Amino acid sequence: MSHESELRESICRFGQSLFERGLTAGSSGNISVRLSDGGWLTTPTNASLGFLDPAILSRIDPDGRLVSGHAPTKELPLHMALYATRRDAGAIVHLHSTHSVAVSMLPDIDPADVLPPMTAYYVMKIGRTALVPYYRPGDPAVADAIRGLAGRYTSVLLANHGPVVAGKDLEAAIYATEELEETAKLRLLLNGLNPRILTRAQVRDLVTHFGLDDSIGTASSDPADHPHAPHIHDSDGHDHDG
Ligand SMILES: [Zn+2]
Repeated sequence: MSHESELRESICRFGQSLFERGLTAGSSGNISVRLSDGGWLTTPTNASLGFLDPAILSRIDPDGRLVSGHAPTKELPLHMALYATRRDAGAIVHLHSTHSVAVSMLPDIDPADVLPPMTAYYVMKIGRTALVPYYRPGDPAVADAIRGLAGRYTSVLLANHGPVVAGKDLEAAIYATEELEETAKLRLLLNGLNPRILTRAQVRDLVTHFGLDDSIGTASSDPADHPHAPHIHDSDGHDHDG
């Protein structure tokens, strides 16, 4: 089996797994993978991730033209914007996953760092997530907003819509998206409960030990000073006390 046919099978298998676990409903959500010739494979428009067919995936050439398969997802510009600014991205996953969408609507999230460092795996697989404001579906401004982040994030949350997450390959992008969703679930479960999040020193230790992006854990406030305070800011940048 060629590398491309293996990738086609993998996209369908992961898509089915995401769908069956309720991580994206109906025909929402899309997946893309960068190919060695500079083109892409992506899920088609109006396709449920639960019922993908490897033969009808959209094959895109390096200039963005459809070469074979069904018409690509209408959200392809979101993927292309993230690929354009993240040369290391080998795959991108976009879901309408419930907990991430819910977190995107909370009034007190920091657009530069949507979720606090609650677990080591969130820090290791995601690091930081940026919030992009709400745009009407299909508005080209959302791709511009992703380009505006200039590749500083692999994980972007579209307000009232869902996450767009890049990984070095398909498996990494899928697992990072799942980690984001689980962290969003924890954030909602613990809302108002004053959870103990990782301290700045614990985050720095992860960054050093695993060679993570140095910008992780450099938020404006230092939770090490208040180890029991949630690292959750309101629009004025003040910590909430519970
Ligand atoms: Zn979407």
